[in-house]
Amino acid sequence: MVHFSKHLICVFFIFALLTSACHNNDNLPQGNSSFNFSIGLDNKIKVAILPFSGVDPTYSKLLKSEIEKFYSCEVTILKEHPLPSFAFYQPRNRYKADSLLKYLKLSLPKDYNLIIGITGTDISTKDDIHEDWGVFGLGFMGGPSCIISDFRLKKSAIDKKHLQQRIIKVALHELGHTLGLPHCTSSNKCLMKDANGTIKSVDEEEKQLCESCKIKLASFRTIK
Ligand SMILES: [Zn+2]
Ligand SMILES: [Zn+2]
Repeated sequence: MVHFSKHLICVFFIFALLTSACHNNDNLPQGNSSFNFSIGLDNKIKVAILPFSGVDPTYSKLLKSEIEKFYSCEVTILKEHPLPSFAFYQPRNRYKADSLLKYLKLSLPKDYNLIIGITGTDISTKDDIHEDWGVFGLGFMGGPSCIISDFRLKKSAIDKKHLQQRIIKVALHELGHTLGLPHCTSSNKCLMKDANGTIKSVDEEEKQLCESCKIKLASFRTIK
């Protein structure tokens, strides 16, 4: 149970590094080589939400509204999918977030840039130290997919509203990675700050990007 004492908010992957170092390693997630998150000012970002079976059905609508407002984008809600059996990690009775990212990438609708999966089951990934590490979410750096789970976010949540705020912040954080934003070191309150494993850090974050991250995001959205 040592893994439960400290949680990562997420682990993100830099596609350039993966393609140069790990492209033959099937255990690691790989970005979509044809995906290039560079859109013009006139083009809207289009995000698809994919709820996995069993997740609270109210989350999709909540996230649609929050994502649309926060990133000024268009969001659609896809029909519920069962969790893919190939992503199940039997030794810990939970699902591999890396495998779910691959599944989501394949489920990205035509004409959509990004996809976010939401699940109520526990998810995990491999990091530098741990073979299997429980996480709140996981996302590809630069798209196209990310995943969040409320399994760990529910713990110690004061009430439903508190839990919803955590879900929103983690979803916006993971989408930030898919939009190309790395972890932020400019501000302690920035949504893109690395939570370094604690739910307390998620609670302390504000639902906003610092000026530095806003500038970065604006540059990604305007560079062709
Ligand atoms: Zn992160
Ligand atoms: Zn920031």
